Amino acid sequence: MKISYEQLLEEAKAARRRAYTPYSGFQVGAALLTQEGKVYRGCNIENAAYGPTNCAERTAFFKAVSEGERNFSAIAIVGGKESGEAEETCSPCGVCRQVMMEFCHPQEFRIILADGKGGYQVYLLEELLPLGFGPKNLEKGRGKEENSGTGGICN
Ligand SMILES: [Zn+2]
Repeated sequence: MKISYEQLLEEAKAARRRAYTPYSGFQVGAALLTQEGKVYRGCNIENAAYGPTNCAERTAFFKAVSEGERNFSAIAIVGGKESGEAEETCSPCGVCRQVMMEFCHPQEFRIILADGKGGYQVYLLEELLPLGFGPKNLEKGRGKEENSGTGGICN
């Protein structure tokens, strides 16, 4: 099943309507697309103790992974203050970028950010998390060849 960036953003907008944000009033929706074309929605879910608060992106990822999904192609994210249409570009926090790094190929996974003016920008995960640490870093034998031996100098 093919789905356009615009359709995925519409899914994210629908997810945003479910945001539970009594403290910040900042509502985010995400729509995660699997490689088979299935969409998992997520919203941010706040908590009176603050710490247990979960982002929209991770809600979508954890829903999908808990249903057995492991292969993802893109996520659309919309966000802004209070209800209504998204008012600003809402880029994923560092924790969510790291969760994406766990399950997604950094040179292939796309992150689609609504700009709040009816448009959007598309980024690859490697653009939002350069030199990200992921499962490949723990593979046996990796890391030995990384030093190019050019002898850089720290001033
Ligand atoms: Zn986050």
